[in-house]
Amino acid sequence: MLEIHNICKSFRGVKVLETIHLHIEKSAIFGLAGPSGCGKSTLLRCIQGLETLDQGTVNCRGRIGFMFQDFQLFPHMTVLQNLTYAPDLKDKDKKAEHRRQAESLLRDLSIEFKGDAYPKALSGGQKQRVALARGLMANPDVLLCDEPTSGLDVSTTMDVVALLKSINKQFAVTIVIASHDLDFLTKISDRIALLKNGALAINIDPKQYADPVDFLKRYY
Ligand code: ADP
Ligand code: MG
Repeated sequence: MLEIHNICKSFRGVKVLETIHLHIEKSAIFGLAGPSGCGKSTLLRCIQGLETLDQGTVNCRGRIGFMFQDFQLFPHMTVLQNLTYAPDLKDKDKKAEHRRQAESLLRDLSIEFKGDAYPKALSGGQKQRVALARGLMANPDVLLCDEPTSGLDVSTTMDVVALLKSINKQFAVTIVIASHDLDFLTKISDRIALLKNGALAINIDPKQYADPVDFLKRYY
């Protein structure tokens, strides 16, 4: 589904990603772990085509959707406007269709009653659902999530685990999640790769380990 071959990326001469190879299976939930500053967000941006690569290639079959860190909802727009804004810009003739799709996604994520609310009136978990719905508006084959649980409490984090798993099943979408939260990643991921100083230290199936968090920590 997603083939990353030999990627290198530096910013002003400082290497951030170094010869990254990754193969991500269709419909997998793939976790990208590692401490803050190790290059997770940069790698997601490279996959999305938002960065020019110094070297290497990204091959993705299908459309990519993106869920930003800290939600990045437009504060002056309602939930429905947040969802339809980009699709409407891209395709002005399909506004009614976008609106129907947005309402349907809000129903899927059980927040249909918040369509006319502004982001400031939402809880952290509800903002997360809206950000997720917005990422799904592009009908992505691959959804990239950057730190989807940052700022959420434990019980809301568990909601996000359930939510992403159900999205993964329902839409057969491949999900790549960057997070520094190993507990969260091991609960949700089919595979986890650990980035360390811009290089891939290890790539494992967490189910093969009695204590995958402890195992991953050894490579930090
Ligand atoms: P993570 O998401 O794992 O915390 P990032 O990918 O955000 O890490 O950042 C990795 C490194 O690249 C950091 O040292 C960061 O300062 C640097 N970096 C990221 N984006 C830029 C940029 N646009 N210009 C310069 N340096 C950057
Ligand atoms: Mg980041």
